[in-house]
Amino acid sequence: MRGDGMITAGIDVGSTTTKAVLLGKDGIYSYSVQATGIDIPEATEQVLGESLAQANLSFEDIAGIVSTGYGRISIPFSSQTITEITCNAAGVHHLFPNATLVVDIGGQDSKAIKMDKKGRVRQFAMNDKCAAGTGKFLEVAAQTLRVDVEELGKTSLESKNKITISNTCTVFAQSEIVSLIARKTEKEDIAAALHESIGSRIYGLINSVYPEPKAEIVLTGGVARNIAIVKLLERMTGRMVMVPENPQIVTALGAAILARKVN
Ligand code: ADP
Repeated sequence: MRGDGMITAGIDVGSTTTKAVLLGKDGIYSYSVQATGIDIPEATEQVLGESLAQANLSFEDIAGIVSTGYGRISIPFSSQTITEITCNAAGVHHLFPNATLVVDIGGQDSKAIKMDKKGRVRQFAMNDKCAAGTGKFLEVAAQTLRVDVEELGKTSLESKNKITISNTCTVFAQSEIVSLIARKTEKEDIAAALHESIGSRIYGLINSVYPEPKAEIVLTGGVARNIAIVKLLERMTGRMVMVPENPQIVTALGAAILARKVN
């Protein structure tokens, strides 16, 4: 076994993407992100295989594996499963030791987590019942507007005229977008209104965990890569928003950290 028995893996099976992180005693060795698709065991084997190949390691070098995320129970080779709230908090605490407020916006859920300075979860609020306020809402909107979801945030920042989207429901918002397009409304203005809509959902989640007045927000999940969401949350909450270098793998990183304690 290489890595002095210190190499652990965290696997986060999200509704949209599956992530693996390999952690050694000096930090992250490698990671991989892939679409989850319909075959969860296959997606997890792929991300783990790719991470091992990148780090030039083999499965036998891993001392422990923790799996998390909505599909965590479908992973046959993990030592333990832990909820994504606990794993996300552990990952954030590792990267930002003073953080007490986390917002995670993924493909089909969003959550606000309040923690203490030791990274222990004190309270959380989660929206996993409805696509409004999640990455899925932005994906559907981007498709309807014929803009790449990766570009939707930047497009919205070009808006010159303020309009509102009255429907927060993804399906109804989609038909509202279609009629706005038919009325020749600029796509930049529609994109900005869509971001306002998702922002107000997230703002509500944040307030429901009663954060400390001055607590900064650490924003994680794939949607943290959307610059307009970052700016919007800063404006709406009056708080500083910090985004880790790779916000999508923070929960998998937390799982790999917790795997050190499992073994
Ligand atoms: P989950 O963990 O729930 O599977 P992720 O954290 O991987 O989801 O987030 C997926 C979402 O992130 C997508 O729905 C998309 O809206 C958003 N996303 C991913 N990459 C980018 C990017 N480069 N720019 C903007 N948004 C992104």
